[in-house]
Amino acid sequence: MTNLNVRVELTQNPKAKTPEDKLGFGTVFTDHLFLMDWDAEQGWHDARVVPYQNLQLDPSVGALHYGQAIFEGLKAYNNGGKVYLFRPEKNFERLNKSADRLSLPQLDEKFALEALKLFVSVDRSWVPTTPGTSLYLRPLMFNSEVGLGVHPAKKVTYLVMASPVGAYFTAGLKPMRLFVEDEYVRAAVGGVGFAKTAGNYAASLKGQLKAEEFGCQQCLWLDAKEHRYVEEGGAMNVFFKINGEYYTPALTGSILPGVTRDSMLQLLRDRGEKVHEARLDVNDLFAKAKTGELEEMFCTGTAAVVTPVGTLVRVVNHETGEKEEVAINGGETGEATKSLYEELVNLQLGLGEDRHGWLVEVCDAE
Ligand SMILES: *Cc1c(COP(=O)(O)O)cnc(C)c1O
Repeated sequence: MTNLNVRVELTQNPKAKTPEDKLGFGTVFTDHLFLMDWDAEQGWHDARVVPYQNLQLDPSVGALHYGQAIFEGLKAYNNGGKVYLFRPEKNFERLNKSADRLSLPQLDEKFALEALKLFVSVDRSWVPTTPGTSLYLRPLMFNSEVGLGVHPAKKVTYLVMASPVGAYFTAGLKPMRLFVEDEYVRAAVGGVGFAKTAGNYAASLKGQLKAEEFGCQQCLWLDAKEHRYVEEGGAMNVFFKINGEYYTPALTGSILPGVTRDSMLQLLRDRGEKVHEARLDVNDLFAKAKTGELEEMFCTGTAAVVTPVGTLVRVVNHETGEKEEVAINGGETGEATKSLYEELVNLQLGLGEDRHGWLVEVCDAE
């Protein structure tokens, strides 16, 4: 499917818009929805932009029972004059990798991007303009075949929904406390950790609740085999500045390859910084936090962009429950973290020089 054959049915009842200073994350949805169906005989067909609506699903569909569901997350930004997407082709490339792992069909990445641009331009009036806000786009693909048999889907639904969002963490660039989770794991090598699939999130909630019990906002996930090497921070990738050089866990198969992670690596290299994709032992990180060699730590992801980490908490004795806390940069947001956040946000808004051609123009802003 290469020609853009998308039916557009506009809503007759536009919704009232939430004031931009009242936007949360993923609570308000735009007037429309992009939908497209796949079956083994016809391939992808019936691409359409329709009024936002409930889905009609048979209770037996595979996504609900067996978790055959994958998604993406990217943002449209309004810089006052134009609406942009940030590196959207990376999201469709990743969606296809997730689809392959979950035995879902491949999308035509070029078509998916053109269809996304059309969808965003239909709902362009929903792209907020206040700094820190954006239109969050959520592509979703799932097994919508009727029946309880376990096999790759013969019927699949692809949709994109859009949600105007404010800052992801309402506290702003306030450093997080991360809880080192050494009991539950998010993903194992050979599993689906590199895929953006629903079940990874279901599996992470228990750790998230535990982190909250320890007064932390997110987990620092460790590897599934030795429970020792750092993987991710919540649903974000994680970076460390140690003795003036930058480190992030190497992609092993159980780590989600973030677009923001990739962009951050490039920004750091552009600055002439030394960056390492490495295996990072959590014990070593605690030791280096104590000596001050671990200078800064932050997490990256589309939703939160860059979030500083001010404190690491772990249980050192599981029998007594004794815990240990270390502060990073005195628990404050570091200078490098702040300036990297600002550089990335400016690039996304089209305010910095687009050295790498990361911005894709969608349409004029309203
Ligand atoms: C989406 C996601 C990320 C961040 O990826 P981005 O492409 O930067 O948004 C990191 N970890 C997990 C588990 C994710 O699902």
